[in-house]
Amino acid sequence: MAAVTVIGAGVVGLSVAHEFADAGHDVTVVHAPPDPLDASPLAGAVWFPYGVGLDPDTLAWSQRTRARLEELADVPGTGVVCRRGTYVERVPDADRSWCIDLPGYTEVAAGNLPSGARSAFQAVLPVVDMPRYLAWLRERCVGRGVGFRVERLDAESVAALRGPVVVAAGLRSAALVSDDSPPFPTRGQVVRVRNAGLTDWYIDEHHPDGMVYVIPRLDDVVCGGTADEGDWNTDVDPAAEHAILDRAAKVVPAVAGLPIVSRGAGARPSRDGIRLGRVGDDVYACYGHGGAGVSLSWGSAEAIVRLVLRG
Ligand SMILES: Cc1cc2nc3c(=O)[nH]c(=O)nc-3n(C[C@H](O)[C@H](O)[C@H](O)COP(=O)(O)OP(=O)(O)OC[C@H]3O[C@@H](n4cnc5c(N)ncnc54)[C@H](O)[C@@H]3O)c2cc1C
Repeated sequence: MAAVTVIGAGVVGLSVAHEFADAGHDVTVVHAPPDPLDASPLAGAVWFPYGVGLDPDTLAWSQRTRARLEELADVPGTGVVCRRGTYVERVPDADRSWCIDLPGYTEVAAGNLPSGARSAFQAVLPVVDMPRYLAWLRERCVGRGVGFRVERLDAESVAALRGPVVVAAGLRSAALVSDDSPPFPTRGQVVRVRNAGLTDWYIDEHHPDGMVYVIPRLDDVVCGGTADEGDWNTDVDPAAEHAILDRAAKVVPAVAGLPIVSRGAGARPSRDGIRLGRVGDDVYACYGHGGAGVSLSWGSAEAIVRLVLRG
């Protein structure tokens, strides 16, 4: 098979490159220099298909990804761990279609629900320490012979590339291939505090004071968050940070007063549906994963690789 080019070295592009290389192909990843709009380093990241439509494809990709992340939790150095946590629901008829066969799945008793919540459950989900995971994934690609080149491409240069090309450039993919429904940012801000032994995650997306999640990684705890559609601003807002920490400490008192170790703001690559498929002569798309790119990474990578190899 001809050489394959993957554009983008976020979690999606690296997973696609890995799958092509595993199938024995000659892969080059082309990516722009690091940029605040790169979503992957900022992700929490807990396995949970947030901010994407739960259609049958998405659900299948999420299940495949969970299975693969669970396997990686047993591999030293990946940055993946499986951790128990609590997911709070406040909307009527919350969609639990993504909860198929979750390990440790238990309903929280009505008497133990947070104030105003309609329901909640606990489960054991993969939690991914993204800086470690991205470094591991890249190394694994290099070990499989994947080449890397730093270059900011444009639509003209993409059209000139030979062989199958997969555009996995997240939010900025529409600069590379025409798209009637281009990705748009959903801004998210996080603040990370030192991890003083916390292990359980907590998500309350519709908390009356604003979205709140607390995700203990290996050395730190990611506290979030915000979700502002159409906002490209990647500067940290101190007032928003204060409010995030306040909400986090209310739902998980153990994070109160812990030293801040880092902070960040960026953009989920939202779109009216993930774009996965052929978009031109030998040009394919795999982007628009919104707030779930980590949670869908392996499943969508396997899907696009199958499609390309079918021709
Ligand atoms: C605050 C926050 C929290 C999140 N939490 C979670 C979570 O808990 N779980 C979860 O599953 N997801 C989460 N997400 C979403 C997740 O981060 C994204 O869906 C995912 O990272 C998208 O990956 P990607 O590879 O498509 O894009 P990116 O990571 O943005 O990578 C894009 C790549 O394309 C390259 N590129 C762009 N333009 C060009 C160009 N012109 N030429 C060459 N290369 C180019 C860039 O250099 C980069 O390598 C979160 C996101 C945010 C912002």
